[in-house]
Amino acid sequence: MIIVFLGPPGAGKGTQCKMLVDRYNMLHISSGDILRRHRKEGTELGQKAQSYMDAGDLVPDDLIVAMMIEEMKKIGQGGGFILDGFPRTIGQARELDAALEKEGKSVDVALCLEVDDSKLEERITGRRSCSVCGKAYHIQFNPPRQKNQCDNGCGPLVQRPDDTEDVVRNRIKTYHDQTAPLVAYYQNKGNLQSINGDVGIEQVRESLFEVLDKIVPAR
Ligand code: AMP
Repeated sequence: MIIVFLGPPGAGKGTQCKMLVDRYNMLHISSGDILRRHRKEGTELGQKAQSYMDAGDLVPDDLIVAMMIEEMKKIGQGGGFILDGFPRTIGQARELDAALEKEGKSVDVALCLEVDDSKLEERITGRRSCSVCGKAYHIQFNPPRQKNQCDNGCGPLVQRPDDTEDVVRNRIKTYHDQTAPLVAYYQNKGNLQSINGDVGIEQVRESLFEVLDKIVPAR
């Protein structure tokens, strides 16, 4: 089972993916997380990706496709994958299809989490996470008990460098220009499922379960 998870930055893909892997026997592969790991480790790829990420632009297709195919091979198949943040361009989607086809596989479903632009900026710029354990917060919607401190008592909260106002605006524009065309791409293939992401986390989760329960066995 191979699921592609589409949606603008701040739609809640990461949050929902964590709940989906708990319910279904699948692995969550986030291209953004992998790139951040490369940057932290100072790899050549991490260094090449840095300026694009900090500006809210897309990292070139050739780098991303090679990275994702390598990652999928490395972690093996298990019950399947949820691809979060990949593909992000038509070129990446074609390359993914070609790589899967070589193994007699294909994308089974493309989920698209739809959220109005007006909500995205507020959702993203308020995001914080613990610098030690990574626990996620939002200064307005999910604040820590003590300002800027993780509830687990481990460390101060930090903001992702690309979650600042200017960069967020560019990330949203980049989504519309380069990633939104994927909605039509998967619709034409007949495997698009759109979900309203403009409601609460629990409601979105229920809608996703409703769609996926029909096609993926729960654990
Ligand atoms: P994300 O965590 O998914 O918001 O990704 C953070 C940043 O990583 C993006 O703004 C891009 O610069 C880069 N990135 C992540 N996934 C991709 C992708 N599939 N193609 C190109 N760039 C990507």
